[in-house]
Amino acid sequence: MKLASYWHDTAAPFAGAAPGPVAGRVDVAVVGGGFTGLSAALALARRGASVAVVEAAHVGAGASGRNGGQCNNGFAQDFAAVEARFGFERAVALYRAFDAAVDTVERLVGEEGIDCAFARTGKLKLAAKPAHAEKLARARDALHRGADPDVAFVPREALAGEIGTERYHGGLVFPKSASLHMGRFVVGLAEAATRAGARIHEGAAVRRLTRIGRTDAHTVETARGTLRADQVLLATGPSRAGPFFRYRRRIVPIGSFIVVTEPLSRARLDALLPTRRMCTTTQNIGHYFRVTPDDRLLFGGRARFALSSATSDAKSGRVLEAGMVETFPALAGTRLDWCWGGIVDMTQDRLPRAGQHEGLYYSMGYSGHGTQMSTHMGQVMAAVMAGDRDANPWSGLDWPAIKGHFGPPWFLPLVGAYYKFQDWRH
Ligand SMILES: Cc1cc2nc3c(=O)[nH]c(=O)nc-3n(C[C@H](O)[C@H](O)[C@H](O)COP(=O)(O)OP(=O)(O)OC[C@H]3O[C@@H](n4cnc5c(N)ncnc54)[C@H](O)[C@@H]3O)c2cc1C
Repeated sequence: MKLASYWHDTAAPFAGAAPGPVAGRVDVAVVGGGFTGLSAALALARRGASVAVVEAAHVGAGASGRNGGQCNNGFAQDFAAVEARFGFERAVALYRAFDAAVDTVERLVGEEGIDCAFARTGKLKLAAKPAHAEKLARARDALHRGADPDVAFVPREALAGEIGTERYHGGLVFPKSASLHMGRFVVGLAEAATRAGARIHEGAAVRRLTRIGRTDAHTVETARGTLRADQVLLATGPSRAGPFFRYRRRIVPIGSFIVVTEPLSRARLDALLPTRRMCTTTQNIGHYFRVTPDDRLLFGGRARFALSSATSDAKSGRVLEAGMVETFPALAGTRLDWCWGGIVDMTQDRLPRAGQHEGLYYSMGYSGHGTQMSTHMGQVMAAVMAGDRDANPWSGLDWPAIKGHFGPPWFLPLVGAYYKFQDWRH
């Protein structure tokens, strides 16, 4: 079993990084070469701006190259909870932002001819307990009131048409959701941004940002040199390095882990996931899984409340293997070929945050539901930076620092214990 991301290993690496030092002056510096940063760089360069992406490691090194491969519409949380907080109209608008985000991914894949196996497979949210199935049926009713007439409830007795396990008590199908090869997509976005004129500097971790007067302009000091930019977009996800203390205090970095099996025959996959949907489960410490473009099962979850590292990933892999076999007993003894982890940029309310603060633009906090939203927000932030403030669906959300959180997530074991207790109780 290889301790590396399947998406990185099965995509050709990005070959268009700018050689030489980071220097000169640009209209926009984008910090971070994941979906947010690359999508923004593409949109800004298409608008005629000179753009430099400065990425600490390599394109897709963060969550964008390490995720579960699901490009889903719908909220991470219950629609009713969002409605109770924001009222019906804004909740519908926020829900539709996820529909628009999946559309954005599909549009960019088509416009740029990115070969990444994009398909509208749909998502299947699975009820881990009988009470969760009742909750999903209520969620269907709430969504049918105006947000999404397409979602469909699948009762337990009809679930065999969707999934080959007795483990779940019902499911909710979101047909607009999609699947794609995330490694090929992130490299394809980087190539598209480069074609449009953006320069992408890898190995260029930002160490210091200095605002010039009260303007939006900054000097951007990186490991490979310094440039001056009239505007700066922070697209750094849950960055653990660099001058982003304000953001670190507002984002909880949560580890999430994934294993990928050996290739399975079509007949075996048809028995496990005949519809090939993107699957998630209703627990706090639940699972997500899908079939890869080359016929393997990708199986992920929070596994342990720890950050990703080689030892941590291997331990989590063993926990996930047990979860996979519990879900699909027929997979006992199946070889695992990949295991890796990544860090999710979780906000307290699990909704993204984007805007401008003290001259810096930012978009992050997608809370594990961001392959589509980060790509979408890259496009949106390009519009916002060009003056269209109304383009941002997340504007106006308050974002206080998390009490007692000064960067290192000392409280993760407590959060883990709390969620385990909640999963046991409800
Ligand atoms: C294990 C896992 C599974 C997931 N599964 C799903 C899923 O199935 N569906 C879904 O919708 N979402 C999923 N997500 C979330 C989704 O992948 C992210 O929301 C999305 O990729 C965020 O993109 P981003 O560009 O904002 O951040 P990232 O992809 O994290 O990119 C940030 C980049 O900033 C760089 N950076 C950080 N600090 C600096 C610095 N100082 N200087 C320069 N560069 C810096 C990093 O190296 C990184 O490349 C998952 C996340 C993880 C970790």
